[in-house]
Amino acid sequence: MSDTAFIYLDNAATTRVLPEVVAEMEPYFLTGWGNPSSLYKIGQDAKAAISDARERIAGHLGTEAKNIYFTGCGTESDNWALKETMFAYRDKGKHIITTTTEHHAIMNTCKWLEQRGCEVTYLPVDGDGLVDPAAFEAAIRPDTVMASIIYANNEIGTVQPIDQLCQIAHQHGIIFHTDAVQAMTNLPIDVSKTEVDMLSASGHKFHAPKGVGFLYIRKGVKTKNFIDGGDQERKRRAGTENVPYIMGMAKALDIQMANFDTRVPQEIKLRDHLIERVLGEMEHVRLNGSRDQRLPNNTNFSFQFVEGESLLMMMEQKGIMASSGSACASGSLDPSHVLLAIGLPHEIAHGSLRLTLSEDTTLEDIDYTVESLKEVVGTLRKMSPLYEDFVAGKADIAGFVDKK
Ligand code: PLP
Repeated sequence: MSDTAFIYLDNAATTRVLPEVVAEMEPYFLTGWGNPSSLYKIGQDAKAAISDARERIAGHLGTEAKNIYFTGCGTESDNWALKETMFAYRDKGKHIITTTTEHHAIMNTCKWLEQRGCEVTYLPVDGDGLVDPAAFEAAIRPDTVMASIIYANNEIGTVQPIDQLCQIAHQHGIIFHTDAVQAMTNLPIDVSKTEVDMLSASGHKFHAPKGVGFLYIRKGVKTKNFIDGGDQERKRRAGTENVPYIMGMAKALDIQMANFDTRVPQEIKLRDHLIERVLGEMEHVRLNGSRDQRLPNNTNFSFQFVEGESLLMMMEQKGIMASSGSACASGSLDPSHVLLAIGLPHEIAHGSLRLTLSEDTTLEDIDYTVESLKEVVGTLRKMSPLYEDFVAGKADIAGFVDKK
């Protein structure tokens, strides 16, 4: 078990802040707390520090520092990318293309745009959660300004064919934004190769604190200022910079990119072990999301005859922290829009569990989790009248496919 008192398998919701990250941040609270806009030394030192952080972050992405804009979170980056680009190009048109499986940060921003006269195409996905590039191309219209397609899904882990979609977008002269909040540090991302025009990221998904993110904007993309005020962030996102958090985010990214080649294969190995054991040893269970085009640390299962909230609570009693969908949606009883979008019926979508790993996860954690799952799912099924009917041969399992 990892060194916490519990097994944390909810790394898509947030990650543990690394001690090295806290150590990097501390001086900017205690001694180097100047305002980067001030002309005296502690101000100029803070300015130099964030400029170095910007360089390092840009380097990890394969771009130049001037294309990186610090924000308060992934949600803010998404809002900026969509709202201000649609506004900047309003003379070209009012159409934007996205998918039915975006995070609420994109979904609700699209609704906001619709309320203000924009037209949004929500591309459907297949049973694995993948967008069809031909359908994407067919959806592009003369008045399409941009597309925003999630790099890797936060619930089911499906990784979209971003390079191909981006090429199609550019062939038709439209701007391509991707929400890479889950992909950052989990997949190799180089914007000099994957020619996305804008990319959103969030520090707390890769061991920096909550409340800091960034937006990459390719040179030449005309997006409006998101926050008006002072000269910070090249006048595009005003407000005194959050120096300690920016420093923490850069440090976290340095660490996660330095250990990428050992961390990611290890996570894939444990993820696959988890998937193989659950699908191999349990009945009436399916893996949601693509088997191959999948985030290294994501698993998402549906267990028939089981209710997700009860499953979560009983897993917590076993000391395992997990999620029944995206953290933002888990407070509500509506089934996840992502699981519905891949074609799951409501009752199956309700019985879903997301387990997301990190470099802290061990083989023992995974084996203990599988044993706990078997016990908990067994207990819950014994309490289920539907399962009783099914065992008695009075009901079938229509709508549910055991996906091995
Ligand atoms: N986009 C995706 C894909 C996410 O998973 C999340 C967070 O769960 C966000 C955006 C929002 O990021 P933040 O929590 O930094 O606002």
